[in-house]
Amino acid sequence: MPGSIRIARIFGIDINIHFSWIVIFFFLVTNLSDSFYPDQFPKWSREKTFVVSAVSALLFFASVVAHELAHSLVARRFQMSVSSITLFMLGGVASLKSEPPSAKAELFMAAAGPLTSIVIGVAGLAIAFAADANQTSASWRQVVGGVAGYLGPINLIVAVFNLVPGFPLDGGRVLRAAIWGITKDRSRATGIAARGGQLFAGLLFAAGVAFLFGIGVPQNNVQGLLYGFIAYFLWNAAASSLQQERLASVVGGTTVGSLMTTDFRSTPPAVMVGQLIRDLVLPMNLRAIPVVSGDRLVGLVTIGDLRKVEQDRWPATPVEEVMTPASELATVSPDDPLGAALERFGADDLPLLPVIKDSRLVGLLYREAVVGYVRMREMVGLQGRR
Ligand SMILES: [Zn+2]
Repeated sequence: MPGSIRIARIFGIDINIHFSWIVIFFFLVTNLSDSFYPDQFPKWSREKTFVVSAVSALLFFASVVAHELAHSLVARRFQMSVSSITLFMLGGVASLKSEPPSAKAELFMAAAGPLTSIVIGVAGLAIAFAADANQTSASWRQVVGGVAGYLGPINLIVAVFNLVPGFPLDGGRVLRAAIWGITKDRSRATGIAARGGQLFAGLLFAAGVAFLFGIGVPQNNVQGLLYGFIAYFLWNAAASSLQQERLASVVGGTTVGSLMTTDFRSTPPAVMVGQLIRDLVLPMNLRAIPVVSGDRLVGLVTIGDLRKVEQDRWPATPVEEVMTPASELATVSPDDPLGAALERFGADDLPLLPVIKDSRLVGLLYREAVVGYVRMREMVGLQGRR
């Protein structure tokens, strides 16, 4: 996602932070140190209040990561690969390289996150209850009770917010999985669940306006803007899911095989970067070249990979050193529906997908070819065979 930076790597999954999360983080720390903690423990020094607030916000951050990791680990269990987790706004997004293969996979994957938040939330409440902190308790009791008394409820709020039945929120995914499981029609299920997401975004937007102008609620600009911001993100996410599903239905019964190119250039893994650039990249203006050993795909090398090699190292660096190995590549088979290929393009922003049959490289599917085909179908108003 643009506008985000990587901060950690857990179980081989990149954890990224979007700039909007940094805004929320400061908002949280300010809110906690200005009112939440001073209201309960007015005798705390300003420094102590600030440090406890910052630690609370960090622990909240860790619980959101736990929520997303739960989604990701269940996704892996169902053979979906997760490349990264990005934290933004009130939650996170786990980037899947493909859509869930079945309604059951989607159901378990979607439910894992909110369940984790509920577990953390209940644990927080239990600790807060056990600590039973008040102004006369021991200092450590006040801190433990105070922090747990914050983390408990906020994790439950995260769970409830995510369980709203609007796609792409977790609750919307659960809803989609349920409709998909019953009707066996994923496209229709996505449509209904995404409309739920847009409806919820509309309600949040209305709530934001109510807070901004103090209609029926005490006026609160910060709250109003926050609601508006979340509504905007949610609306866009639901709209893009609808768009993707619509594309998949436009390309309907078309398969990868009918659009792939079988006349393509490739390179063996031992060729030096300099030779590849001189012989193939420059004269043929290729942006990505499959690396093959015999007719087996071993990797893909892109202009971006080649650019990472300093020019004086060109003659001594073999292609296999800079390529993306086949095991990390999204591939398609000639019999795959074009919709599946579109999803794979979307996840990685690749210029092409290698087409594999019986573990042999049989062709390349270029992004432009697919985009051009979709435009053409839309122009002549053809609906795909379903
Ligand atoms: Zn979630």
